[in-house]
Parts: sequence; structure tokens; C-alpha cells
Amino acid sequence: MKILLVNPWIEDFAAYDFWLKPVGLLYVGSFLKKLGFEVHLIDLMNRYEEDLENYIHIPRDKYFGTGKFPHTKIEKPEILRFVPRQYKRYGAPIEYLEKRISEIGKIDAIFVTSTLTYWYPGYYDTIKEVKKLTNAPVFLGGFYARNLPWHAQNSGAIVFPTNNLNKLPKFLSRYLDVDIPEIDFDWFKDLAPAYELYKRVGYVVLLTTLGCPYKCTYCVAHRNWERMMFKEPLKVIEEIEKFGELLKIEDFIFFDDAILINYKNHFKIIIQEIIRRGLNKKYRFHLPNGIHAKLLNEEIANSLFEANFKVIRLGYETKGKLQELTGGKVKDDDLLRAARLLTDAGFTNKEVGAYVMMNLPGQTVQEVLDAVDVCLDAGIDVSVNEFTPIVGSDIWMELVNSGRLTGLEDPLLLNNTIMPYWWKNMTIDEIEYIKRVVKEKRLNYVKT
Ligand code: SF4
Repeated sequence: MKILLVNPWIEDFAAYDFWLKPVGLLYVGSFLKKLGFEVHLIDLMNRYEEDLENYIHIPRDKYFGTGKFPHTKIEKPEILRFVPRQYKRYGAPIEYLEKRISEIGKIDAIFVTSTLTYWYPGYYDTIKEVKKLTNAPVFLGGFYARNLPWHAQNSGAIVFPTNNLNKLPKFLSRYLDVDIPEIDFDWFKDLAPAYELYKRVGYVVLLTTLGCPYKCTYCVAHRNWERMMFKEPLKVIEEIEKFGELLKIEDFIFFDDAILINYKNHFKIIIQEIIRRGLNKKYRFHLPNGIHAKLLNEEIANSLFEANFKVIRLGYETKGKLQELTGGKVKDDDLLRAARLLTDAGFTNKEVGAYVMMNLPGQTVQEVLDAVDVCLDAGIDVSVNEFTPIVGSDIWMELVNSGRLTGLEDPLLLNNTIMPYWWKNMTIDEIEYIKRVVKEKRLNYVKT
């Protein structure tokens, strides 16, 4: 039987390919192949598809495989009429999707994945289009389907509301009218994401762990998995060697939530093996997902440098009382120490930066600007992002309990770029002010 995996469109006012790959969907692909299915992939967000440029203008790459997505202007959803910005569909155009589906021929089932909840219009439109083009049942999985399964029922697809892929055989047996035997293996530890389904990609994103032991109040990562899971380090190395060779790429991105946990038994071995096998001479490595400053030490900093890591982001988020109140994962001293260790190891602010969040409930404009100063004064770059209340996070529950959110908002309204237009926290003027000041400060500090 033939199964098609689809990475759907993103519809938003802005979107950027900062190493977005549907890693979960690629694990589903591996799992389905193991079950004996013929698996195909259409990644509508892959800027590197072989003949995509015959269909749409693709902006040039920025750095290490990142870049702007191609886009088409579309009408805003009714509920976003009040936002004075152009809404867009990012990714390949419909004609490209039509051509790819016609090439595959008869399809028995389609899996569409999802990530951010406020991108649901892109998922719905993708589902609508694939349904026009085939008669196959369409399943929707991924973060949106798990976080808001009741909302995802409106997608037109059958929701697969769990991240436990071992439930797939039973799920498929039910909907495809076939008897698929359960198989006993650990899908994360035993399988590699099915990157071989691509003909061309610009980079490969890998996960070496699942889960996070921290409990930040603005995050739900720690609720996604019951416990942390670690992939055998040498399997990670196998994945690097296999996909580096097969796809002729130069950039590997580790997207783990907490890659420095259990360092000695896990990431240390991966880094040592990267160096021992000379993979640091062939490939560049990146840690864009906010590593834990608290867990960094001199040995790790030096090894990252030797292993050719080029983008390292530290999770800092805010200055002031909220550091402790949001979970205490990092304090100023941790960040300053980590910045010094990385700088001493040879990194500059071209490679190292920290994430700061703005518009957190209870946060002042000054706290954001002070946090930016802490980073820049420590000799590292900074990236300021707007807070979004993720449904199910502690902060979201507090906001609902205190009446600052109803808990029933359309997910579109919880888009972090939309919140300042309607939510009474920082105003849009304050947000714009912070962005202006940060831009000026960075111009003075960061090497270009
Ligand atoms: S923000 Fe990072 S450290 Fe905190 S719970 Fe989420 S993944 Fe873990």
C-alpha cells in the first residue's frame, strides 16, 4: 500500500526557514516503511525541491541553509481583519502539489503533519487540496493535533492525537481496513528519520533526545514526553554519516530541547565521535534551540568549538524577577559564565547568541532592554522573540484563571505577532519601540 506524507503550508503574516524540517513526520515515514508500506513525501516547505523554481520565485539562501520561504499573497482569515498586515501562504504553490500527487499515482492514505497551533489555516488548506486530488483518507498528526485535538477535528482530516508512534498499526488497521500487526521496537531509538525520502534538502535536522526535565511556565515541552529519551550516540553518528553522504549537505542541526542533559553519557560521545571521525572537517553543526547556560562548562565549550559548531543559541528569556517565577532555568550569572566560556573557547558573537522573550505577563519594557544589554555586554548576540501563551502551559492556565484570557480564543489570536494588537499587555508601540532599540544596540555591538 502506498502512503503519502505531506508537510503542509504555513499561512501567517511572516515565516522564515530557520531550519524547519518535519522531523516527526520523517519518523512516521520510517515507521511506515518498517511496517511494509511504500512511502512518499511531499514537503511543501522544502525550498530545495528540485524543480520548485519552475513554479515560484525562491529567495536566495541567507546562511547555513536558512532563508526566506517562497510565498503567495492570500486573503486574511476573517478574525484577523483588524491586523494591518498582508497575510501569506508560504511554501510551494498549488500547481506543484498537483504535479507531485499526479506523479505518485494511486495513494492509499495521506499523513499531514502540523506544528504551531496558529498555523492551522495552512494545515486546513493543505488537507482541502489533497482531498480534491485523491480519494485517500487523510490523517492529521503533529503538535497542533496533539495540543488541540478538539479544534483539529475541524480540519477535515482524521486526527492522530498522540506522539506514540507504536499506536500507528492499530490506528491504521482501523481506518484502512487492513490487519497490521503490532511490532515491538522503540521507534525513536531504533529508527532514523526518513530523510532518504527527499531528493534534495539544504540541511538535515536531527533529534538525539526527546523531552526536557525543566518546567518553564511558558513551555509545554516537558509535558510532551513522560520522560527523557536518549538515542544511542553511535546511531546519531550513523545518521550524520548516512544523510551527509546521501544528500550532499553541509549543515546538521540538533533540535533537541535539552541536549546537554546527561552530557557525559550522551552528547559528549556524539561530539567526540564527530571529531574522531573527522566529520567536523566535512560538516557544520548548529544548536539553535536554546541550550542550557547552567549546564555548560569549559570542556563542552571547547569541544563545541573543535567540532565545528557554527550557530549556538542560549536560552535566557528575561531579566529580573520573572527568571525565577518562570521556572528558574537560567540566572544572569549562568548566562554570563556561559558567554565567557564560549568566548574563551574561540567563539564570537557571530556564532553565539541568546534568546530573550518580550511581552511575557508581568514583564516590563525595561526588563527586556536590560536582558538585551546583559547579552551584548557579555559579548554575545541576542534575538528577541514575542511571547505566545501555549495552550496547556502554566502561564496559559494562570492567564485563564485570572480572566486575562478566556481559554477559548481562536488559536489564530494567540499568534505572538498578533497578540499585541488586541491583548492588554505590552502595546504594539512598546513592542515596536523595543525592536527599534534592539536593532540600534545590535548595530553597535555585533560584528557584521
Ligand atoms: S523552555 Fe526549554 S528548558 Fe524550559 S521546559 Fe521548555 S524546552 Fe525545557
